[in-house]
This record gives sequence, structure tokens and C-alpha cells, in this order.
Amino acid sequence: TVRTRVAPSPTGDPHVGTAYIALFNLAFARQHGGQFILRIEDTDQTRSTDESEQAILDSLRWLGLEWDEGPDVGGEYGPYRQSERKDMYKDFAMRLVEEGTAFLCFRTAEELDELRESRKADGKHTALKQSDLELPQDEVERRMAAGMPYVVRMKVPEEGVCVIDDMLRGPIELDWGQVDAQILLKSDGMPTYHLANVVDDHLMKITHVIRGEEWINSAPKHKLLYQYFGWDMPQLCHMPLLRNPDKSKLSKRKNPTSILYYQRMGFLPEALLNYLGRMGWSMPDEREKFNRDEMFANFDIQRVSLGGPVFDQEKLSWLNGLWIREDLTPEQFAAQVQKWALNPEYLMQIIPLIQPRVEKFSDVAPLAGFFLSGMLSISEADFEHKKLEQEEVQRILQFSVWHLDQQTKWDRDSLFAELKGLADGMEIKIRDFLFPLFVAIAGTSQSVSVVDAMSILGPDMSRARLRHALE
Ligand code: ATP
Ligand code: GLU
Repeated sequence: TVRTRVAPSPTGDPHVGTAYIALFNLAFARQHGGQFILRIEDTDQTRSTDESEQAILDSLRWLGLEWDEGPDVGGEYGPYRQSERKDMYKDFAMRLVEEGTAFLCFRTAEELDELRESRKADGKHTALKQSDLELPQDEVERRMAAGMPYVVRMKVPEEGVCVIDDMLRGPIELDWGQVDAQILLKSDGMPTYHLANVVDDHLMKITHVIRGEEWINSAPKHKLLYQYFGWDMPQLCHMPLLRNPDKSKLSKRKNPTSILYYQRMGFLPEALLNYLGRMGWSMPDEREKFNRDEMFANFDIQRVSLGGPVFDQEKLSWLNGLWIREDLTPEQFAAQVQKWALNPEYLMQIIPLIQPRVEKFSDVAPLAGFFLSGMLSISEADFEHKKLEQEEVQRILQFSVWHLDQQTKWDRDSLFAELKGLADGMEIKIRDFLFPLFVAIAGTSQSVSVVDAMSILGPDMSRARLRHALE
């Protein structure tokens, strides 16, 4: 039976790209009466968080992308979280070492830098092979005895061509010369993505790997690993990446990519899913509006077109409008709005900020309105300030955007610390510095604390409003 999977890494906000890939895996599995698995790839322990994992699960479920096996629902081939499978990977890596297709590498970071530099100077491509990394046997023994850290690397052909069969692209030729002797097991005993991914796809009996095209270059390593282990390789299918309207790869620096943003913006999950289904794919009759089950009933992966699909918020809004007008009775619409705006969880984030500042309920809407909005209509006049030149206002906004693009911790204290540091660096009093941010985020400086507001609105909505203010 067909078994597909989506394998997100819980290292940030749930990405629309993850939902897009999940949708196509689910559609393919359903079309063939197979199973769809959710696996959490959290081998990068420094970047993975429980909150991110939970947000990914919640978002996929919100979209109606249900999995048959996964960390929260269990299944025959668990555990479905890679951090809980750590020992297994080590055994497999050591098996390859014993069989001679992988080796222990004691090279230090400095040695690796030097090797790369000298290869570059020779005008060679910089892929490092076993022959570059090998040390004389007595040196290996010395380093081992001294307890120096080591990694396990796979052996890789020095040259020649690797042919990868892709369900959409046919055979793809890749040059072995470009492929490093990939690390399989890090010095802390954790596997890299490549080892864990191959081992798990095999043990979880995955038959079709449908993933983003960013992974094509990894496919030769994976193919070789399947060969070394003597396992059948699943069929590979690399989907075109989502694009910004300017055709560059969809990225949060240009467009909101978090599913949480699209929730906060008030899109219907059915409409967002419909739109993701239109990314590179179309119904046989080309109709634009369809639901999940209609998509599954008509699904054919060969209808995926490789031209980069553009994820365009305006088009999504148009489609969402169709759903709102055609599929909801006024009662259902009212219930949805209530769930979106007045759900206790969201309200209880906002109310503690609002309550101390009002005298009557009718004061609430003007103060809280920006929590229930998308982009605000603000004009240059709103940014007039007695101490700040307009150029300075622009600089504050621009620098804030640049810094907040990098910001991974989004709680009020971290945000405040970051912005305070920036204000100090620009030698502007924090009070004045925050003024344009108040206007961009809340529409007015007469508002509740702007860092509290940003922490509630979330990274993508906050960044989008700051960018909007710069336009
Ligand atoms: P950004 O460029 O916005 O920072 P990113 O590349 O850092 O995004 P990741 O956190 O690396 O995003 O990826 C999260 C998930 O989303 C991964 O599974 C990745 O495959 C997927 N993804 C990222 N960008 C795209 C895209 N343009 N199209 C499809 N999937 C994507
Ligand atoms: N963990 C990888 C990701 O985050 C999975 C890639 C794959 O599907 O092989 O996209």
C-alpha cells in the first residue's frame, strides 16, 4: 500500500510550505487508498521547540490535513519524533562503519576550514571526500585515545554521475564530484537529517517521498544510503517551491509565510487549503474553487506543473471571498466571526491590556480594534512627532524591520530587549523610538504597550504592518 509522509522540523512558526507539501502527500495517499504519516524531524536540538511542534500540529489540523499516524495519534511504526529514536540511528551508522561504507572522522573544525581553503586555491570544487579527510592510522588511534570528538561520515564516489528518478521530472543527473562525504552522525551522537530521514522512511515503510525541490541535491546521498543498507528506495517526487509575486522563493522577508498569520488575518481554512491545492495543480475542469474531498477525488500528481507557483495574498483573498459569500449562511458566518474574534483564548490575551484603560464597554472597540484588523490605513500625518524628523521615523521603522526579521523569540521581554538595544545604538530615547512602531502596529501612539501588542499579533502580522508603514 501507498504510504506518504510530511516531515517538518519544529524550528519556527508553521510554514504554509509545510501545509502545501502535506496536502499533496495526503492527496496522493488518499487517491491510492493509502496512509499519510506525520513525522517530526527534531534532530536539531538547539533550534527545535515543543511550542513549534504543537503549532505545526494545530495548524495542519486546522486546515483539515489529518494524518493516520503521528506523534500525537501513535501508530505501528512509532515513535514518530526523531529525538525519541536516537539510539536506532547510531546503530545504523555503526553498521555502515563496520561494513566499510562509512568512516569515523576526527578532523577538527580548523582542519576542515584549511582543507576547504586549499582546495579552493587549487581551483577544485570544494566537496570533501574520504580521501581528503583520512588521517594516518596512528593519528586516528592517538585522537581516539585522547577522547577527541568524532563524527561518522558516509563514503561518496569521487566522480561520475548519479541519476535520480523523479516522478515529475524524469531522470535528473547530478555530479558526484559536488557531493561531500556527508556527516551521518554528529559528535553528540545525534544523526543528521540525511541519516535519520532515510532510516525512518525505510522503517516507516514510506513508498513515496513527496517534498520540496530544495531537497533534490540531497537525493544522491539518500540514494547511496539506501544502496549501502540494501533497502529499496521510495519513489521521489520534488514539488516546485512556492514563490513570492516577484518569482523569488517565498520567504518571510517579503511575504507572511506563517499559517498563524493567515489565521489571524481571518482566512477560512477551507479557502487556504483550496488555494494551496491550486499551487502548481489544477482540477481537470480548471475550476478554481474546490474543497478537499473534490481535490482528492480528482487528484493526479502528474497534473503538477513545474513552473514556480506564486503564492499571492490578493488572489487568496479573492478566493476566500468566494467561500465566504457562497458557502456560509449568515448564521454560519456569524458563528465563524465569533470564533475568530471573540474566542476566549484570544480575548484573554487582549483584555488584561484593555481593562485598566477603559471606563465603559463602548471604549473597548476603539482601543482593541487593531487586534482584529489586517493592514491599517495610516498616512504620513500619523507619523508626525515633535522630536523626530520624518527621515528618522523611516530609519527607525526600517531598522526595526531588519532586526525583527531575524528575531526568533517573540515574547514581550525579548522584543523589548531587542528594540531597546536598537534604540540605544541609534542614540534615540526608547520612548521616542517606539512612537513610529506604535503608529505602524496600532495606528496611534495612544495605545496599549506596543511590545505586548506585537507579541499577541505574532511575528508575521507585526512585520507585515511595519512593512506596510514603510510603503
Ligand atoms: P524563510 O525563507 O521564510 O526564512 P525558510 O526557508 O527558513 O523560510 P524553513 O523554516 O526552512 O523556512 O522551512 C519550513 C518548512 O517550509 C520546510 O519544510 C520547507 O521545506 C518549507 N518551505 C520553506 N519555503 C518554502 C517554499 N518557498 N515553498 C514550499 N515549501 C517551503
Ligand atoms: N525535515 C525536512 C523539512 O523540514 C524534511 C524533508 C523531506 O521531506 O525529506 O522539510
